[in-house]
Amino acid sequence: MAARRALKAVLVDLSGTLHIEDAAVPGAQEALKRLRSTSVMVRFVTNTTKESKQDLLERLKKLEFDISEDEIFTSLTAARSLVEQKQVRPMLLIDDRALPDFKGIQTSDPNAVVIGLAPEHFHYQILNQAFRLLLDGAPLIAIHKGRYYKRKDGLALGPGPFVTALEYATDTKATVVGKPERTFFLEALRGTGCEPEEAVMIGDDCRDDVGGAQNVGMLGILVKTGMYLLYKPFLKQDGRLHNYLKNVLCRNGRVLSTLIPFLSQSKNKMGLESQGKRQ
Ligand SMILES: [Mg+2]
Repeated sequence: MAARRALKAVLVDLSGTLHIEDAAVPGAQEALKRLRSTSVMVRFVTNTTKESKQDLLERLKKLEFDISEDEIFTSLTAARSLVEQKQVRPMLLIDDRALPDFKGIQTSDPNAVVIGLAPEHFHYQILNQAFRLLLDGAPLIAIHKGRYYKRKDGLALGPGPFVTALEYATDTKATVVGKPERTFFLEALRGTGCEPEEAVMIGDDCRDDVGGAQNVGMLGILVKTGMYLLYKPFLKQDGRLHNYLKNVLCRNGRVLSTLIPFLSQSKNKMGLESQGKRQ
């Protein structure tokens, strides 16, 4: 792995790190303002499958976050890029609210399958249609393969089990585009002019955020909000989870209670404020 250089870019996860559904994580707006006052570039990265970028932006603006649309990179953006690169016509097995992010993409006579979390569409007839396309050689593109996620009423199945069902039935492998895939982080950094060794990822998921970023050479920082609170009760009983977290943090990672201390602790250690002088 290349040596770490002065910090130039910070990738920040959204759900669980800046907000949880319609509530901001306490202090997150202030932390973001302070981050904006430094010379680093800030990008926001998320594995959303059911919210278009515009919806996401509106939610964040309501919570008084100072974020612009071109700073957000989502797994839907990554899926659209791949569809364009491959020049395919996808069957979009995604939530209707995510459709605006595929505006202009040709979807008639499909020859590919894009799958995200689509509870309203996950029934036999539709899944069978996707199955038949895959048997005919259509590529399978998964927004991400999350096993489950947190809803107000408890844990719920993510897109992963449905992607895996199609993989199993057709003996094929999906191209996954969201976190923790390498290409996701590299694409998110594209346009910033930064190498992974000049960037840090802050998120609440030790595998998808911190582990994924570390795999491309970025520094990973875990915040103890969102997902962290979900798996915290199991840390003592689940040896594998405990070891995973320990390993992730040993690989150049750190844990913070929220986003705020990152800023004050970073000044000297990462050159947040002196970065301009070092160049
Ligand atoms: Mg998160």
